[in-house]
Amino acid sequence: MRKLYVHNSLSRQREAFDPITEGYVGMYVCGPTVYSDVHLGNCRTFTSFDVIFRFLKHLGYKVRYVRNITDVGHLEGDVDVGGEDKIAKKARLEQLEPMEVVQKYSNGFQQMMETFNILPPSIEPRATGHILEQIDMIKKIIANGFAYEINGSVYFDTPKFIAEEDAYGKLSGRVVDDLLQETRDNLKRQDEKRDPSDFALWIKADATHLMRWESPWSTGFPGWHLECSAMSTKYLGPHFDIHGGGTDLKFPHHENEIAQNMGACKCTPAKYWLHANMLLLNGKKMSKSDGNSVMPQQLFSGESEHLSKGFAPMVVRFFMLQAHYRSTLDLTNDALLAAEKGYQRLMEAYKSLQRLDTKAEATTELDQEISTLIEGAYQDMCDDFNTAKALGKLFELATKINALHNGQLKLEDLSSKTLAALKEAYHTFLFDIFGLESSVASAKGEEELIDGLMNLIIDLRKGARENKDWGMADKIRDTLSALAVQVKDGKDGTTWSKK
Ligand code: AMP
Ligand code: ZN
Repeated sequence: MRKLYVHNSLSRQREAFDPITEGYVGMYVCGPTVYSDVHLGNCRTFTSFDVIFRFLKHLGYKVRYVRNITDVGHLEGDVDVGGEDKIAKKARLEQLEPMEVVQKYSNGFQQMMETFNILPPSIEPRATGHILEQIDMIKKIIANGFAYEINGSVYFDTPKFIAEEDAYGKLSGRVVDDLLQETRDNLKRQDEKRDPSDFALWIKADATHLMRWESPWSTGFPGWHLECSAMSTKYLGPHFDIHGGGTDLKFPHHENEIAQNMGACKCTPAKYWLHANMLLLNGKKMSKSDGNSVMPQQLFSGESEHLSKGFAPMVVRFFMLQAHYRSTLDLTNDALLAAEKGYQRLMEAYKSLQRLDTKAEATTELDQEISTLIEGAYQDMCDDFNTAKALGKLFELATKINALHNGQLKLEDLSSKTLAALKEAYHTFLFDIFGLESSVASAKGEEELIDGLMNLIIDLRKGARENKDWGMADKIRDTLSALAVQVKDGKDGTTWSKK
């Protein structure tokens, strides 16, 4: 198996990837809060982790990929307590059951994931389906002395955790005082907490709150950060390989997740933390709340003030892969137009590659160059999943393929072994690793079918002519002609083309 290196947000360093159990990878990625249509920024993060999932599998790991659905506890403004639940608010506004809201936007989310050819995770657990696990975790945290109950709500004791465990603030890389100041500015219902930096694990529901469950402390609902701690522990164990999400989740969400896990079992949840960077629109973070966003449907149809035309989902996916997942990516009309050209160039090269054939056996300089590029693309992916660089290698290979196709490079200078390796690698990268839809691959299937049928027809015509069955031969030619297919008889045999 090739050696993989990843950038660990926790150490802020590139590290060799050594899974906890050889051959197996447990990966947890924070999924969407299903209270509105998924926006392109979300899609970028899930595309990044889709490629990571695909590449880990390609390397030969058996991957258990858990990506949750947040359907309770995520409050307006991402505040800790005192805000209205995003899903409950939508349910009130649209006069729906909260679970209708959840179902509606989960369906939309799944459809969008399919549109972008993002593979489903191995497990997609929902927060509301894991209330017992969350209550259980709170009990453990209380038993370990890191949480306290007050007026039916339970809060994590952040100062105590900071004093006893040297862990808080490590992931977001910021000094604890700054984090605490930020929490102070953010939070309401401060009077209940022993310290403003304490965060809610269980919140007592007031009379109007829609989603509520029984617990030892009150009828209420869990805090937002708790679901990920409880569900990652349930499906991947208390210590697992990879935890991912967007960089905007580092604080408070992931920092608090680590605190909860350590508070419950004294062990750090993930060995490697991977964070995908933000999608920008014309230089500013894409965000629905300040109107700086494009919805995927608008991108496909082109109905947006930011776009001159619509773009196919696979062009958008390709556009996302052109940047490394840890870099910001700026969505502009010009960048999409350029991505469309780049995508078409790769796909054209793929089609031309299928038509290349050689019987040569000796290896040459060209063989060397091609093999080095293929290996380079794998090395780029092994270096923290650098899709941008790997795509660069595929473009260099496309130049070679085009030159072989138009005769600038000689096919005799390429061994059949290297050509087979190139076909295999190109297919693997485009479709298996980058997940660039198989519309071309299925088009290829159709092309193969048409080629096969045409060869059959040409053979039948040849037979008819040999038997002097002129009626049949003419009928075949005329029917093909009506279908705009031209048949040419040359000294090397019969060829066909579309008029
Ligand atoms: P949410 O539904 O807001 O909880 O977010 C779901 C996922 O999308 C999280 O992992 C976020 O980090 C990510 N996300 C939100 N906005 C953006 C953005 N502009 N670019 C990339 N990822 C984003
Ligand atoms: Zn999460």
